[in-house]
Amino acid sequence: PQDPSIILQAIGISKHFGGVQALKEVSISACAGEITGLIGPNGAGKSTLLAVLGGDTRPDAGQVLLAGVDFVGQRRGSAAQHGLVRTFQQASPIPNMTVLENVMLGGSQRIGPNGLGVVMSTRRLRTAEASLRDDALSLLAQLELTGLENRLAADLSFGQLRLLEICRALMAQPKVLLLDEPVAGLNSVETAHLGQVLAGLVDGGLAILLVDHDIPFMLGLCKVVFVLDYGEMIASGAPEAVERNPLVRAAYLGD
Ligand code: ADP
Ligand code: MG
Repeated sequence: PQDPSIILQAIGISKHFGGVQALKEVSISACAGEITGLIGPNGAGKSTLLAVLGGDTRPDAGQVLLAGVDFVGQRRGSAAQHGLVRTFQQASPIPNMTVLENVMLGGSQRIGPNGLGVVMSTRRLRTAEASLRDDALSLLAQLELTGLENRLAADLSFGQLRLLEICRALMAQPKVLLLDEPVAGLNSVETAHLGQVLAGLVDGGLAILLVDHDIPFMLGLCKVVFVLDYGEMIASGAPEAVERNPLVRAAYLGD
């Protein structure tokens, strides 16, 4: 019997790049209201798996089900329209736009299929823009970026940029958020703060799939952790069990 709170499920995903088998029959799932972890050494296939889950990379084999629907196979609409968004290892806010404008852009596809370029009556456009602005301001408050709305993205610290990226992603009102190494390069204070923010987001019912190297950070946050090594899922389960798993220690911790 399958856990009814599973919102994202990938089954038997394989993907190769030339001679490199980046993923070999990998399966993973994530539940609403939980942070699910994905760890593994460099080159293990973590980012490739996120690209497949996000619909940006077509797998050679396997299925991705979002709330039970195979959206990769059907390709009807974007992943965001199906309720799934992701952030990238390299943050990409537009530096010469303000924080508020950057966040509002994250919700542009809510206005119409062509985003802000859609033809609309001025009145409808103003209403839509006002609603984006309200949502953006409340997300900025939730992620503790209040006061920075009118600063240029270029002026933010590294840690603030990561929070901005997450705000932008949340503007699409996703059910599932995929995060690729969001704490890489952050100091310990920024890392702890980001962890608190993520824990607060899943309390609202969001599912987060979190990729990172920082094992203590992951163990504290994740309900379930999956471990990739050379494209294969070598372990999964509660963080404490995964940390003790001899396969994981050999692959990941160099034991
Ligand atoms: P991770 O995120 O765990 O560090 P990646 O998913 O980035 O790992 O990479 C997994 C493997 O696939 C690596 O060997 C990498 O070099 C290879 N790879 C990833 N993307 C491409 C690509 N676009 N073209 C060729 N090889 C790639
Ligand atoms: Mg990666």
